[in-house]
Amino acid sequence: MQIGSGFDLHRIRPTRRGFLLAAGVKIPAPYRVLAHSDGDFIFHAVSDALASSLGTNDIGHFFPPGKPETKAMNSAVILKHYLRALIGQGAQILSVSVVVAAQKPKLAAHCPRIRSALSEALAIPLHRVGLTMKTFEAVKPLASNCVACWATCLVEEGRPRMRRRQK
Ligand SMILES: [Zn+2]
Repeated sequence: MQIGSGFDLHRIRPTRRGFLLAAGVKIPAPYRVLAHSDGDFIFHAVSDALASSLGTNDIGHFFPPGKPETKAMNSAVILKHYLRALIGQGAQILSVSVVVAAQKPKLAAHCPRIRSALSEALAIPLHRVGLTMKTFEAVKPLASNCVACWATCLVEEGRPRMRRRQK
């Protein structure tokens, strides 16, 4: 078994009709999330956790920010990249645990929807997805400036393959 952890943070900018994307779920917010991609911080943190458990490069390596091909990119595509890598290695996800920190809006009410979207995106049963919603406890520099996400995953490795002899 292999454990992986990932982290993601995005700055936010106040706006009246903003929204955030959490595992593909669009939630109205009093700000917009500043990002080169679509800013889905859950998909980003979970993708990096998977990358870490698979011993492969992180999302910044495969999907570099600032490039035209990753502009406004749907982060589900990023996640799918790692799910394919997982299948390629014959590995499977045992469980994923995610912590989100956002001051506004109160995300607790949206938790069931986001959790079920994440379970669907990862193609694993709901009871294998943990999701905790936190605020920044009104620590102002964080609360009014960013959203963040931490993710941990447990992955069962595939059957060991015959290794080629090192030259
Ligand atoms: Zn991100």
